[in-house]
Amino acid sequence: MDFLSSHSIAPSKVVRGEHAWEESYQLIPTICRRPLLLGRSNTTAELRQGLAHRLQEIGLKNVSAELKHDCCEADLKRLKTIACNNSCDGVIAAGGGKVLDAGKLLAHRLEIPCITVPLSAATCAGWTALANIYSSAGAFQRDEVLNKCPELIIFDHSFVRQAPPRTLASGIADALAKWYEASVSSGSSKDGLIQQAVQMARVLRDQLLIDGPKALQDQNSHAWIRVAEACALTAGLIGGIGGARCRTVAAHAVHNGLTQLEACHEMLHGEKVGYGILVQLRLEEMIGGNQLAGQARRQLLPFLQKLELPVSLEDLGLSKVSLFELKEVCQFACQENSDLHHLPFTVTPSSLLEALVAAGKDEPVIIESKNTEKSRAS
Ligand SMILES: [Zn+2]
Repeated sequence: MDFLSSHSIAPSKVVRGEHAWEESYQLIPTICRRPLLLGRSNTTAELRQGLAHRLQEIGLKNVSAELKHDCCEADLKRLKTIACNNSCDGVIAAGGGKVLDAGKLLAHRLEIPCITVPLSAATCAGWTALANIYSSAGAFQRDEVLNKCPELIIFDHSFVRQAPPRTLASGIADALAKWYEASVSSGSSKDGLIQQAVQMARVLRDQLLIDGPKALQDQNSHAWIRVAEACALTAGLIGGIGGARCRTVAAHAVHNGLTQLEACHEMLHGEKVGYGILVQLRLEEMIGGNQLAGQARRQLLPFLQKLELPVSLEDLGLSKVSLFELKEVCQFACQENSDLHHLPFTVTPSSLLEALVAAGKDEPVIIESKNTEKSRAS
């Protein structure tokens, strides 16, 4: 059998725990001596100043820089100039998903190592060999596969605890999508590694359903550690093991479509992805005739609500958008190369619009379709 697969599964080193940052003082100088320390928001500025100070104390000449927009070409160009002018030999990205993606992409293009320091558990961007690129206005454009995962990920619990609880809820929704998407795109794969990645996504989902609410209630609980690490680390590991063929499907395609609307820019990545899961399940029920998907959607609804995640267009800040704008979202999500087309049936922008509007309805779809194709491995 002719078979070849090549993918980067994980960072070379993962340091996680309460004092992971201090634990890494020995390691960082073995990776770079003149790092560019990249961050973004005002809320993490003080924390990052502390990091810069400590890097200096351990003998590293570091330069601080900030992302101005989302991870976009204009930002990357500016950062590249700063890195080159200062002869940086590595990037330390400390922040949320967009900072981590920008740091990885910058390091990739300059062919220097990257260290990620997630400051929330909102995405698994600190782990993966993938970066999303947005316009400077925040609309998703494309993703880029990198040649490897970061050299080192430092997941310091004391940093992540400082992030708003909303970021953890968002991370939970993003990590839940792994199962709903991977089981559709790869549920019938013959590749053992992919099969195991999909099963891992199922176990991850179950753990998030059990531990998620407790984690949000109590930041000092074991459940918080399990959930935060599940969102920021395990979700990335699943993507790494599964590789390019263990793909995202409609939940992320809907997210990409939603980013095209200015009104949705205040919502976090996982908040849009979580709504995207509901839309995907609605499509599976509506077009695929999959009643289990309908059941899964109605079970997921109260869970997302409990976590204060959006379950309607109104929750997403879209109560005032026009039908024209919603159609734009659907056009974008349905474009030819979209991952949405990994669904085992054809989706048109108009059927997507129907699912987009009704995804949060707590009632089954009246099934007219005779198509009962099975779309999820159990
Ligand atoms: Zn995601």
